[in-house]
This record gives sequence, structure tokens and C-alpha cells, in this order.
Amino acid sequence: MLLLLGACSPGRTTASSAAVAESTLTPEATIRPPAVSTGLPPTTTSLAEITTSPTSAPSTPAPPTPIPTSTIAATATITPSPTPDRDVLCSQRMPDNGLLAIVTLTYGLSRDYVPAGLVDLSAYLPKEVTLGYPTQLRRLAIGPLVNMINDMQAGGLHPMIISGYRSYSAQAIARQKWAEKEPDRVNILSAPPGFSEHQLGTVIDFGSPELAEIVGVEDIEFHTYFYKTSEGIWLLENAHKYGFTLSYPFEATEVTGFFYEPWHYRYVGVEMATFLHEQGTSLTEYQLSTEPPPCIPDKS
Ligand SMILES: [Zn+2]
Repeated sequence: MLLLLGACSPGRTTASSAAVAESTLTPEATIRPPAVSTGLPPTTTSLAEITTSPTSAPSTPAPPTPIPTSTIAATATITPSPTPDRDVLCSQRMPDNGLLAIVTLTYGLSRDYVPAGLVDLSAYLPKEVTLGYPTQLRRLAIGPLVNMINDMQAGGLHPMIISGYRSYSAQAIARQKWAEKEPDRVNILSAPPGFSEHQLGTVIDFGSPELAEIVGVEDIEFHTYFYKTSEGIWLLENAHKYGFTLSYPFEATEVTGFFYEPWHYRYVGVEMATFLHEQGTSLTEYQLSTEPPPCIPDKS
């Protein structure tokens, strides 16, 4: 039996925003967003420019290049990230700091896994983007994220960041909160701890100032209709140019186990993100069809 979950709600959303999360798979949501592009190319701003911030945390190794060739579009030549944990229980899995660790409702992470190089986004992005939340992300995704945000703003958009890194314990707290508040819908509102991509530190949930009006609910943070916003449309067409990929497309629900989350983007590097975009697939779909299991699922 397939269990479908929502991965994103960090537990601080308002009651009103939680209420609409239930409509994730409404018939209207089956309408795919139109392919609209502003044509904004990626910028060439150097990551080094960003990492000189005095508030920076200790440096991490350079981001690995997940794809060794430039001919990825033609074949499945993308090399899986090293996964030395394949022989361990998923509850013991401590993946390396590569970008492509598989995280699904079957293949989770150890409660002790904390990604390397977490930094506070407030050191790199203005409050109008971070909304004052103490959001963290791995350093290697900061440069591409800032470039993307800058280009979105230059194009007249107003992207917001609702959530980033979420620790195992933070996910557990969020899960418990929803279990107490809305026990019938906890599986829609929150993933169990250890089974959220947010624990990887390379995932961002985006928001849009247009969302409240489109949905008709004030202060809403997450809703399927994000795909209708200017920011959601732009991200769908352009995020891959900066290395970000949509983790849970609508059409991948059966495979990923997660409801459609048009706001949830994961940094996987430009080559992999572009490959996935061109193939019309998601990282989880691709990996589960081409790679051996990353760990041994624990008995539930
Ligand atoms: Zn998310």
C-alpha cells in the first residue's frame, strides 16, 4: 500500500494554511502550469564573492560534479553518487555530502545525520526574501540560490523562502505538532522524521506574495496553487539553470510517495537538474529506476 505524505510543513504554518494543504490533489491541480519563460539566463556571479562574508561558517569542500561528461542529455550516463551506506539499515544511514542522496518514504536517514556546511540564509539574502525566518542551507547551494533569487528579482518577481534545512529533531517536532493538531491529516501535512529531503540541507520551499490572493486565504505559505504564481511558473521553467530541481512533480506522486509540491526545490547541480528537466522526470524517479537501493529499509 502506498502511503502518500506531504513533506514540507515545518510546523509553523498557520491554521489557515494547513487547512488548504488538504486540497493538494484536487482535480484542478491536475492542470499543468503553462510553459512560460521570462528568458532570464543564469548569471555568472561567483560563489567566492559570497563566501567571503564575515558571517560565514567554516568552509566546506567544493560541490562535487555529479556528472562527468557533457553529453548527459543523450543517455543515462549520469554516475550515481557514491553510496557507501547501501549495506546498512536506513535508520543508520549517514550519506556522504554529495548532492544526490536518495531520500524517500522507504529510504530514510539516520537521526544523527547532519549535513556539512550549514549556513544561515540571512547572511546572504534580504529579509524580504527570508521573511526573517532563521533558515539554514548548505553553503554549496548558497551561490546558485542567490544568483537565482537575484535574477528573479531583476525580472520583477518577488520570491520568498519559507523553509530550508530541517533537522531530524525539528522534523520530529513538526510531525508531533501536526499529529496532535490534526491527527487525521498528519500524513498529508508532514513527513516522519528521517524521511524528509529537508534534512539534506539542500532543499528550499519557496513562497509567493501572489499566493494569498490566488488561494483566497491570508498568510498562506503552502498551497498547490503555487504553480499558478509568477514565481512558481518561473521556477518550473528556469530553476534547473541554477541547479535546482522540483522534487515532487504532480505526475510523480505514485513513485515519490509525496503529494505534488510545486514549491519544493532541491539543489542537485546544474548538470543533473538540466538532465532531469530535459527528460521530464524527477530525481527520485530517475534514481529509483537506475540505482540500487541506498540502504536497507527498517521494518516498520
Ligand atoms: Zn519542502
